[in-house]
Formats: sequence, structure tokens, C-alpha cells
Amino acid sequence: MSLPIFLVGARGCGKTTVGQALSQALGYAFSDTDQHLQLTMQRSVAQVVADEGWEGFRARESQSLYAVTAPATIIATGGGMVLAEGNRCYMREHGRVIWLSAPAHVLADRLEKQPDADQRPTLTGRPIAEEMSEVLRARAHLYRQVAHHEVNAMQAPDAVVEQILHCLAMARAS
Ligand code: ADP
Ligand code: MG
Repeated sequence: MSLPIFLVGARGCGKTTVGQALSQALGYAFSDTDQHLQLTMQRSVAQVVADEGWEGFRARESQSLYAVTAPATIIATGGGMVLAEGNRCYMREHGRVIWLSAPAHVLADRLEKQPDADQRPTLTGRPIAEEMSEVLRARAHLYRQVAHHEVNAMQAPDAVVEQILHCLAMARAS
């Protein structure tokens, strides 16, 4: 059976970009938990956070995770999906989990080049590079813990896809 593949990592690591390319390479479907949440809520992530707080958002985020999980699907998860232990267990149990890992300054550069404030509320209101460092400090161990494979997300998207395919093939062979 073609297990779902969950992509985890901080904002800007390439979950959407790489996820779409990977879905084409494998002939899988592509889902994005943030997108699913916004479609079902008919509100942006920023609006859900404003209306219901981060706690309300996190609860709905878990529901989106369950809703999009299906065989032969690449699932781009929200950056904070790993915060809840239940989400981490769910992803590990239901599929393969890939961490797209990159240093804070790389993520900050990408987000600054393509600001998308409506979809991506800053968590603290502070400069993005500072915020990314803090987010990674707080979450790196969770990404590492949940992931079956850690992939270097600083490579070009095609190279990231290649590395993921390689990891998946190795895992199947072992
Ligand atoms: P995420 O979904 O993890 O937040 P995105 O896929 O939306 O990340 O990518 C954020 C930004 O970084 C986009 O502008 C995208 O084009 C760029 N980007 C993503 N992956 C790479 C990469 N491997 N190399 C260079 N730029 C990238
Ligand atoms: Mg995305």
C-alpha cells in the first residue's frame, strides 16, 4: 500500500513547493493542512487565529490533519503541527514523515522575499529572522523526533525531491 507522506518543518522550508513536485514525481495526490483548514473554515489562518486564538487554531489543525490523510497522498503540514504529541504519533503511525530542514536565516530570507502576512501571521511581531531562530530552537527536537527522514531543504527543490525519493527507496529496501 502507498502510505501517505507527511512533510514537516518550519514556515518557508518548502513543504508546499517540494510537496507539489514530489506528488508529481510519485503520481500521488497533494494536500496541505493549512489550505484544507482555510477552505473548510472559509477563513484565513490569520483570521482563525484572531477569532479563536492559537489554541482554537491548533485544535482545528489536528482535524485537518485527520481529514486529508489518505493513501498515496503527499501532505504538507502547518509549521506547528508537530507541537501536539497526538499529531506526532498520528503522523508516524499513518505514514512516512519527512523533515525539510534548513537554518533560520535561510527560512527568514525566503519569507522576506515572499511575504504572505495574511496566511502566515508572525508568532511574536518581532523581526522574522529572530522569530525563526526562536521557533527552530523550540521545535527542532520535535521535527527530529517525528521524522523518519531528515532532508536538507537548502538544496534546489528538484534536489530535495530526489533526496526524499532516495530515502523512501532505502527505507523500502531495508
Ligand atoms: P512552506 O510551505 O514550507 O511554508 P513554501 O513551499 O511556501 O514553504 O516556500 C516558501 C518560499 O520559499 C517560496 O517563495 C518558495 O518559492 C521558496 N522555496 C521553497 N523551497 C525552496 C528551495 N528548496 N530553494 C529555494 N527556494 C525555495
Ligand atoms: Mg506551505
